[in-house]
Amino acid sequence: MEERLGNYCIICGQEKLEGLRIIDEFICESCEVEMVRTEVQDEKYPFFIHQLKRIWVQKNA
Ligand SMILES: [Zn+2]
Repeated sequence: MEERLGNYCIICGQEKLEGLRIIDEFICESCEVEMVRTEVQDEKYPFFIHQLKRIWVQKNA
């Protein structure tokens, strides 16, 4: 196991202990909850999609 204090959330950029791992990226619990609750019509939605796309862009580069 890696000895790391936490992970840096790709959405908010903060270091958090609890969250969701996608490949080797990390989304903290609060961002995950907020993302799930965000409606497609919400102005925040494109921001989340943009942040998530960065994962796939990196992996497919
Ligand atoms: Zn976060």
